[in-house]
Amino acid sequence: MECIFCKIVNGEIHSNKIYENDNFFSILDINQKVDGHSLVISKQHFVTLLDIPEDLSSELIDCIKKTAEIIIRGKNAEGFNIVNNNSESAGQLVNHFHVHLFPRKKNDNANIFS
Ligand code: 5GP
Ligand code: ZN
Repeated sequence: MECIFCKIVNGEIHSNKIYENDNFFSILDINQKVDGHSLVISKQHFVTLLDIPEDLSSELIDCIKKTAEIIIRGKNAEGFNIVNNNSESAGQLVNHFHVHLFPRKKNDNANIFS
């Protein structure tokens, strides 16, 4: 199994989960673009958003919202951005579905698209 996120899912690579439900979990990104930069990742190996079955939609939103609440509280942030890269042309480097979550503060000058 070559997929780095599948290795995190099956425990081959250790991770500290921020939140999880049956089909999604969240962790801090290894390369923090802003303090608290997190990833919401599917437990099954889906590649893009288009592969996510409709009946998992509410669990995906649940994982994003709960992670955002935890990170915003933990980092004293005020808001957040979510970014989801789909396909290499759109900047997807890890071909296992994930959503970036960037906690934001006023005037933080974060450059989340670099
Ligand atoms: P993408 O460009 O595919 O949307 O972003 C992949 C993200 O996964 C990058 O922000 C990268 O830093 C992160 N990443 C890659 N490998 C690992 C890892 O082993 N652990 C964690 N926590 N994040 C990773
Ligand atoms: Zn995978």
